Amino acid sequence: MSLKPNIAIDGPAGSGKSTVARELAHKLGLLYVDTGAMYRAVTYFALRSGIDVGDEGELDTLVKDIRFSLVRFTKNNIVALWCNGENVSPHLREKEVSRYVAKVAAATIVRECLVRYQRLFARTGGVVMEGRDIGTVVLPDAEQKFFLTASLDVRLERRGKELQAAGKSWTKEELCRELTYRDEMDLKREIGPLRKAPDAVVIDCTNLTVKQVIEKMLESHGGG
Ligand code: C5P
Repeated sequence: MSLKPNIAIDGPAGSGKSTVARELAHKLGLLYVDTGAMYRAVTYFALRSGIDVGDEGELDTLVKDIRFSLVRFTKNNIVALWCNGENVSPHLREKEVSRYVAKVAAATIVRECLVRYQRLFARTGGVVMEGRDIGTVVLPDAEQKFFLTASLDVRLERRGKELQAAGKSWTKEELCRELTYRDEMDLKREIGPLRKAPDAVVIDCTNLTVKQVIEKMLESHGGG
């Protein structure tokens, strides 16, 4: 077993994974890794260079040229995603990126490439990694696995608030369409679909605060 544990957190969009994963990492002194940001970054580059996001050949060339790195600010434990020396974090919540990310994430070559990077980030232990396939595909040997769920209404409300805080304007209808479309794509794709790992602890976050979710995680983590 590695010196520091790896913790895998999966669940659908808006289930609260990001906030919870970031805070848990902070509490335990581990590195927070947002794998959704990596799929969003590939989508951002694809849109910026005007390639067809449905063309696996074009995505192949694109994704193999991206060098990912995580830059951690120790003062506030914020982790920014850099690609080829560029901080892409400010672009990842753009509407077009959210609209196309599930399509890009369904491409075999993109998943193979990103999963390799994600395993590299976790190779010496000590990450809290969140996504859709972390407990099942990326880190099947993670010391702790959690699967977060929440009602659609609550997920929409959370995502809406996050976007509002980031200064992005979405109507509730737009958000609902985008979230349900992504859920469906993520559940149905052949490689790395959104699935609960058999040994994951399920936490329904519908009526829980972030603090309560973290308490539940720490309980099953052995008291933190
Ligand atoms: O977590 P977030 O909502 O930012 O993820 C954006 C998209 O990236 C998801 O809807 C999904 O299509 C893709 N994704 C994935 N596998 C992961 C993380 C995210 O396919 N491990």
